[in-house]
Amino acid sequence: MQVAWPENYHTLAPFRELFNTGVPILMYHKIAPRPRRVRLKGLYVTPETFVRQLAELSESGFVSSSLAEVCQDGQAAPRVVLTFDDGFHNVFRNALAPLAERGWRALQFLVPQFIGQMNQWDLREGEAPELLMDAAEVRDWLGAGHAIGSHSLTHARLTRLTLRDAREEIFASKKKLEDDFGAAVEHFSYPYGDWSEPVRELVMEAGYRTACTTQFGVNTPATPPLTLHRITVRHPTRTLRALKRKLLGAI
Ligand SMILES: [Zn+2]
Repeated sequence: MQVAWPENYHTLAPFRELFNTGVPILMYHKIAPRPRRVRLKGLYVTPETFVRQLAELSESGFVSSSLAEVCQDGQAAPRVVLTFDDGFHNVFRNALAPLAERGWRALQFLVPQFIGQMNQWDLREGEAPELLMDAAEVRDWLGAGHAIGSHSLTHARLTRLTLRDAREEIFASKKKLEDDFGAAVEHFSYPYGDWSEPVRELVMEAGYRTACTTQFGVNTPATPPLTLHRITVRHPTRTLRALKRKLLGAI
């Protein structure tokens, strides 16, 4: 029988069974209270919820893992990889302390063109402005033992660009991050989860070891490393709350 997983991660219980079948890569965006007038409310996870999620995973025996380890077989403990897309300052502000407290590691996919600025790509679509990490914060993030990856130069929809422009987004972002921060940039995240075979070829050619999509699911050694699956973490939707009520009611 096909099990229907909730679409987004909020709490571990509905995902326990799925997480036994492969390595989950959780995808976060913003760790902050939700402002009133935003379109994609779900992409905000409050600091309190984040702390609760880390505690729940830790106490259930999960250990923090890295993207480089996702495709390796034979690891004993259940693992989870934490990724943050876009490089928001509120992640720096609100997630570093809880991560340090548990000794957990995470990865931020940065948009090098806009480091220290706003999420320009979202503003065009009517989304609320949010500050992105600046260069000093990225250095502190790395200094705290976390990793960075590329999310393209300008947060572009890569399949809508010419291959020449897509190449620039994929190659130049890697080079710029490596030059600016002196850290190897081996992981890529397709903006909007938008990828195609030619785009994936470019990501491979640029020398990235892994690339993350937004396709739902866990990862096994059989998952192609340049199209890894992820699970979006969101503020609970009404449906999820209803499901929780139903489950609690059933006890
Ligand atoms: Zn993004």
